[in-house]
Amino acid sequence: MRGLIPADLASRAAVLSLAANVVLMVVKITAGLITDSVAVLSDGIDSATDVIASGIVYASVRIGAMPADPRHPYGHGRIETLAASAQALLIASGGVFILFSSVRRLLDPPADIGTSLGLTVMLVAALVNLGVAQYARSVAKMTGSPAIAADARHLVTNIVQAGAVFAGLGLVALTDEVIFDALLAFALGLYLLWTAANILWSAAGDVMDAGLTPDEVEQIEAAIRIEGDAIAGFHDLRTRRSGQSRHIDFHLDLPPSMTMAEAHLITDRIEARLRATWPASVVTIHTEPDDSNASAHGYGSSRTMP
Ligand SMILES: [Zn+2]
Ligand SMILES: [Zn+2]
Repeated sequence: MRGLIPADLASRAAVLSLAANVVLMVVKITAGLITDSVAVLSDGIDSATDVIASGIVYASVRIGAMPADPRHPYGHGRIETLAASAQALLIASGGVFILFSSVRRLLDPPADIGTSLGLTVMLVAALVNLGVAQYARSVAKMTGSPAIAADARHLVTNIVQAGAVFAGLGLVALTDEVIFDALLAFALGLYLLWTAANILWSAAGDVMDAGLTPDEVEQIEAAIRIEGDAIAGFHDLRTRRSGQSRHIDFHLDLPPSMTMAEAHLITDRIEARLRATWPASVVTIHTEPDDSNASAHGYGSSRTMP
């Protein structure tokens, strides 16, 4: 049911992010050790947490693509939501760390900050992150992968982080006031916490089985209504997301005289239509004769006529 292409795309994006972070970590730590710069070295340690984060994303995308089994009859897609939450926690811990160190620097400003090698390495890292983030974002959009979406946001925080360091050092150089470095770091810490909260919020939406967007629901209803007079109506449409897949189920009212074969033909047509829009969608249709009483069952929503 799950299209092979989206899963492949997602794991390719995860591998790219992982590889980029490993290279950046090695370059930063090597540069830090050669120059004995604590700033560059700690930036390398920061990259090490990025490696852990993208490793988690890669594992979750691979596990999420595994076919359903008796223990997980609905598949393994939800592990991506778990991975997104882990990303959020890593970003949040980075935010808390930066907040604390910025307050420390506000209270006790250092005499001198920044090394040119550190800035060069950061600039290169920001450019690499920009490219990978752009790719991850488009893949997240195409596949609907929550883990890749979280990874893309994490990569963007790395770029903003580099931008904040540059802006801070630039302001310090212009004004000779070292306080700007700490102020920007403080703002950066708040931004990281905000991003982490956003990722956690959408992960919570997945866990709480939030429905698809009104736009998507409209698209689904249109795909059912195309059947026109062949169907009598539908009701109790429910939607939710699990990993990269969209789950759609509803009751379809059909003329009582219709044969099982005819009814199945119609449901197969609707399923094919929905899967053409979302290859990773799981569609379940309950058919019933039109003369049944819709209010006697279901989830309280009223009958929808085509
Ligand atoms: Zn029904
Ligand atoms: Zn069937």
